[in-house]
Amino acid sequence: LTERYVAAHPRSRALMEQAGQHLPGGNTRSVLHFEPFPLVMESGWADRLRDVDSSEYIDCAGEFSAGLYGHSDPTIRAAIEAALDNGLVLGAPNRYEARLAELIAQRFPSLEQMRFCNSGTEANLLAVMTARIVTGRDSILVFSGAYHGGVLSYPTGGNAMNVPLDVVMTPFNDVESFTSVMSQQGPKIAAVLVEPVLGAAGNMVASQEFLEALRKLTRDHGALLIFDEVKTSRLGEGGMQGRTAITPDMTTLGKYLGGGLSFGAFGGTRHVMERFDPGHPDALKHAGTFNNNPLSLAAGIAGLREVFTRERAEEFLSISERFREELASELKRRGLPVQVSGLGSILSLHYGETLPRNAEAVHPATMKLRRLVHLDCLEKGVYLTARGDIFLSLPMTEGTLTHLKDSLVASAESEVAY
Ligand code: PMP
Repeated sequence: LTERYVAAHPRSRALMEQAGQHLPGGNTRSVLHFEPFPLVMESGWADRLRDVDSSEYIDCAGEFSAGLYGHSDPTIRAAIEAALDNGLVLGAPNRYEARLAELIAQRFPSLEQMRFCNSGTEANLLAVMTARIVTGRDSILVFSGAYHGGVLSYPTGGNAMNVPLDVVMTPFNDVESFTSVMSQQGPKIAAVLVEPVLGAAGNMVASQEFLEALRKLTRDHGALLIFDEVKTSRLGEGGMQGRTAITPDMTTLGKYLGGGLSFGAFGGTRHVMERFDPGHPDALKHAGTFNNNPLSLAAGIAGLREVFTRERAEEFLSISERFREELASELKRRGLPVQVSGLGSILSLHYGETLPRNAEAVHPATMKLRRLVHLDCLEKGVYLTARGDIFLSLPMTEGTLTHLKDSLVASAESEVAY
């Protein structure tokens, strides 16, 4: 498989070698690296990608969920072009920011007020720092395997390069451990930061019982509950907080909400967020040159208003959830020990007879399965993320989804046999 890959992608190989001159490993996003070398992409349109060796793929990396709209949605493009006609960044409040804030508040009622920034990483950092200041406490509680951005990542193995926060860690989806940690350390916890689908560790969906325990115990102990919905905000019209009817104190967002351009947002109750009002007697300062850049905001507004409407969001969730279920039942029908985790348009494959509920329960053979499926799918014209996440996007048709399902099943079957 690897030999065929090397032979099929000479230009990617040469460009990656050249890139290594000034970029360590030729890379500026570690998550995109895979052995023997990643593909260099030339162009994208709708749900397709073409690499520099002219091979074409269905794009299931979907920019790790930011690519919900695909690469060339006409409405998003028109909004970006119209904004561009009026200048790049204006150095003043503009007409876009309040509009996008209103649209976001309507979808996600936990964000009564919010602030914008440039990435999900920033959004989480700012939310955590806000919680520390508002509660007067130092520690944050996160779940093992969680990824909340480039400097807030808690993998069960490997090196993370994190901001030096006082962090308490406990397993995801484990009410007992969480309850016990809170009873011992509750008084020092400023915030519990949770992604309602534990993404980087393998897209494990939080149980309702677990999220309810988080909601109750954070209240009991005076800590803030922060939902990282940077990715899960695409799961239905109101993200996971809408689906579960559990309202966190703060929420962080990013990815598709900037229409596919760089974006982040954090917010919460008026009580918490009013500290950012410059007129507040004890105001918190939060600046950022590109926080209100018109291109991201205009693209985000067009996306929510005209493309990913509430109805479309719900319809996309059912279509993609049907895809996930059909994929899982086809793997089962063939007797393969492969499970499909996730919800709707965010999913991944796991080796084993049962779905893991947290990072600790991931089968040791899962990474190998995903590595092989990834390379094998490339030969079939399907581009997945190297670590195995699969993201569906709005331009995908029934035909594309069928091709995708058949490719994943065939790859999993040949790799399990291998
Ligand atoms: N939180 C989660 C759950 C994420 O998946 C990501 C990015 N994959 C981030 C935060 C960070 O977002 P960004 O890459 O925009 O900094």
